[in-house]
Amino acid sequence: MHDLNELYQTVILDHNRRPRNYHPMPAANRVGSGHNPLCGDDITVYVRLEGNRIADISFQGSGCAISKASASLMTLNLKGKTIHEAEAVAGGVLQLITSGNTGGDELSDLAALAGVHQFPARIKCATLSWHAALNAVQGEARPATTEKPGD
Ligand code: ZN
Repeated sequence: MHDLNELYQTVILDHNRRPRNYHPMPAANRVGSGHNPLCGDDITVYVRLEGNRIADISFQGSGCAISKASASLMTLNLKGKTIHEAEAVAGGVLQLITSGNTGGDELSDLAALAGVHQFPARIKCATLSWHAALNAVQGEARPATTEKPGD
């Protein structure tokens, strides 16, 4: 268990230091956001849906290492999924975060989030971006932004 905790920490620190898909997305047609007042985490998730598939997904915001790493892992795991598949993945991850049960797949990157269940105060940090992503894909479409840089 000690070694697993070290592995989990390495994944979290790596994604915090180099978050993947960390940028705004002008072409997004769905947006979701999450705010965790207990910790000060503020995450915005951008999604470009094509039909019912997540063609692209990114996030921006500020927050603690866990919220940022979880959001980074979220984008990697939901990109290319259909809404239905994304809901299934997110549901599994939300359960993993709160229960610590990896379902036997202890070495996947997502399993790093299982360590969070030992720190109940941080569970919201880890779940924030997943809820924001679900809100985005299940929410209303927004018109594509017409802003151009420099306007
Ligand atoms: Zn946090």
